[in-house]
Amino acid sequence: MSGQFLISLLSPTTGIILFAAFFVLWLKKRELSYILTASLGYLLTAFGFLFQDTFPAWPMDAQRVVSNFCFLLGVAVIFVAPLQRNNIGTPWRSMTTILVISISMLTWYLFLNPNLVARIAVASIALNLMIFLPLRRFYHGLSERFSDRLLLWVMIISLVIFIIRPLMAFWTPEGTDTYNSLDQSTYWGLVHFSFIVMAITMAIALMVSVSLDLMDDLKREAITDSLSKLSNRRGFEEGAEAALQRSQSNGATSVLLLADLDRFKSINDLYGHATGDEVIRDFGRLIQALSDDSTIAGRIGGEEFAILLPDTSSEAAQAFAESLREQFHHTYLNSPKYTSSTPTTSIGLVASTQKTTLSLMLNQADKALYSAKNKGRNRAKWYSE
Ligand code: GH3
Ligand code: MG
Ligand code: MG
Repeated sequence: MSGQFLISLLSPTTGIILFAAFFVLWLKKRELSYILTASLGYLLTAFGFLFQDTFPAWPMDAQRVVSNFCFLLGVAVIFVAPLQRNNIGTPWRSMTTILVISISMLTWYLFLNPNLVARIAVASIALNLMIFLPLRRFYHGLSERFSDRLLLWVMIISLVIFIIRPLMAFWTPEGTDTYNSLDQSTYWGLVHFSFIVMAITMAIALMVSVSLDLMDDLKREAITDSLSKLSNRRGFEEGAEAALQRSQSNGATSVLLLADLDRFKSINDLYGHATGDEVIRDFGRLIQALSDDSTIAGRIGGEEFAILLPDTSSEAAQAFAESLREQFHHTYLNSPKYTSSTPTTSIGLVASTQKTTLSLMLNQADKALYSAKNKGRNRAKWYSE
């Protein structure tokens, strides 16, 4: 076994190891289909190298066509993975066209009009287009996330490496050598080297993205209430404090609503705890339906909800509270299930001042809520001193 042969195994081994790493990760997280895509891309590139360097040659060197096909498709698939992660559509039609045209041309320059330089040029241009097309789509759908920027830069660097690669081969006098010694040429060394650099950096960027996405999911879960799908107390306080400060620094007024479901203990006693949970879920959905992007809403206790409406007038806040109260009441009015007692909510409201704090507002809204309960429930009351 020659040293040359062992070195030629480096690229397919890299491809297979990365295929295995992503495949195992996908088995653990099947919902992340882009990880499976990346793993298949690496497997295809590994086969591209195996057909070229390791497996026995086919008659008329026909394995070169299969090798190019696997390599081009494999690289394309690896670069499609970031698009899939961000739910960006893949330009499949143009990528397939490039694949078909380039493979036809490679076949032509291998069998009918043998020309190594033409083959290198066709393969390189096709490869660059296979990276450029997904890269362009990815750039247009880019978000502010760090992982997106990282993936974009790795894609750009890979494209640059693959543009420089054939140029270096043509600039080096012995770059492409003769037709027969392609395997020993500087060009072939560059093919291996550039692939390994691209494969590993792209794999690291994808792995970092997976980890950051998982951390984001965990953070979101830690501040979300699973029953109502609103924020939990911690999430509400974090969001509301920041929004209140922003609104105060703009000299605007925000309104805090504190809603507590009425006689909820008897709802549970009459219809069972599962039905009580269903009512809490309904209330969460209703709040979400009435909210816009700026609304901060959370379930801050068993059947107690807080809603901060930043930069909102008293009239708009009053309308929000009345819609919430009425729509909630009407949800159950004609339901045959809730005959003995219909779920309703009482709401306390308070408007912010320049100097107030969230905890003071929660205190004041609680007093207003208490007075709404005292006045007979199923009503909204403003805080007054
Ligand atoms: P009020 O009108 O004065 O608010 O009366 P209430 O019965 O709603 O008040 P209380 O605070 O005495 O009871 C709240 C009840 O809410 C008690 C508890 O069993 C119920 N509860 C709290 N969290 C949950 C929950 O997650 N699911 C269900 N089904 N019930 C809950
Ligand atoms: Mg209650
Ligand atoms: Mg309560």
